[in-house]
Amino acid sequence: MKDRKLLMIPGPIEFTPDVMLAMGMPTTSHIAPNFIEVFGEALERMRHVFLCPDGQPFVIAGSGTLAMDIAGANLVEPGDRALVVNSGYFSDRMGAILERYGATVTQVHAPAVGDVPALEDVETALKKGAYKIMAFTHVDTSTAVVVDAKALGALGREHGVLTILDGVCSVAGEELRQEDWGIDLSFTASQKAIGVPPGLALVVAGPRAMGAFHERKSPVGNYYADWANWLPIMQAYEERRPSYFGTPAVNLIWALNVSLGQILDEGIDARFLRHRRLNQAFKAAIGALGMKQVPLGSELAANTLTAPYYPDGVDKALLGHIKEAGVIVAGGLHPEIRDRYFRVGHMGAVNESDILMTLGALEKGLAQVGHSFDAGAGLAAAQALLTQ
Ligand SMILES: *Cc1c(COP(=O)(O)O)cnc(C)c1O
Repeated sequence: MKDRKLLMIPGPIEFTPDVMLAMGMPTTSHIAPNFIEVFGEALERMRHVFLCPDGQPFVIAGSGTLAMDIAGANLVEPGDRALVVNSGYFSDRMGAILERYGATVTQVHAPAVGDVPALEDVETALKKGAYKIMAFTHVDTSTAVVVDAKALGALGREHGVLTILDGVCSVAGEELRQEDWGIDLSFTASQKAIGVPPGLALVVAGPRAMGAFHERKSPVGNYYADWANWLPIMQAYEERRPSYFGTPAVNLIWALNVSLGQILDEGIDARFLRHRRLNQAFKAAIGALGMKQVPLGSELAANTLTAPYYPDGVDKALLGHIKEAGVIVAGGLHPEIRDRYFRVGHMGAVNESDILMTLGALEKGLAQVGHSFDAGAGLAAAQALLTQ
């Protein structure tokens, strides 16, 4: 019997075989002509995947937190004011990073866990504040809530602030149109919906963000993250010239280029649609099993992951049984509700079979912990949508 487990957490996710092949091929020199071509092509493709044709892509070895750090280090100057639209765990982290680089940070909080800050409250804050920066988390991975990035981008433009979008749980899964929506900088990490093993911070900075960087009066307070070091490197690779600042993560970049190619072959709109469709099927199943979710309304619920509360009388022992049945899901992350819910990632290369297998494992787990429920109801609800 096969004993591989299906990895359904909000990153790292399951990667395609071609991406994994690129990870395993003999490592080339970082200035080999074929690698220069691949890196240059990956940078070009980044603009298409982020839907930011005039943006400047940066591909730098590190995790998503480095991408957050890059945004803070290059855009904040000591004394700048920043507004954080706080929808959970990763918004807290962004606030801490902006502060670390000398910003005075004001937070607009969601009224409750599972909610997002009201647009009116954000607007009120922007009117009062003389902010340089507004940062928000597109999909908060701790609560599975999605903010209205399009409306926040428009508000940012209206009030003349630089907008930073944490897209680590959204880019290439949740609909994001960076340039059309007026978002000045967005970023993700390789291991999430963009579909490459962990290790790359992926940032796209629009013209206003690059302008703010070029107009800085103080040096960037982080040597590794400084765009002054990386911009010439990104430009060189796009112009297919060898260049060096820090050794690029060669195999990860080969894999990134494969994945970006697969994303563009699928079509970015088709990809958004696939995520929406699989998400609807999964969430319908969770509802049919009588489980509540962390997001307080369906319009607040992300397409890239689901955060169900455990049913009454069930606790995190359920996750062990789901794993026994072949699927790995994630525990809670938000400190206020950590032990009351779990998280299922469904992003990237995820397909219908993965959704059905996960639901099968969840139902089996529920049965094994002695929960009484209508067995098969989740699978039937999902299948009803998937066969439409
Ligand atoms: C995963 C995640 C991060 C952090 O990324 P790491 O690669 O774990 O450093 C930041 N923001 C969001 C929204 C995430 O989902």
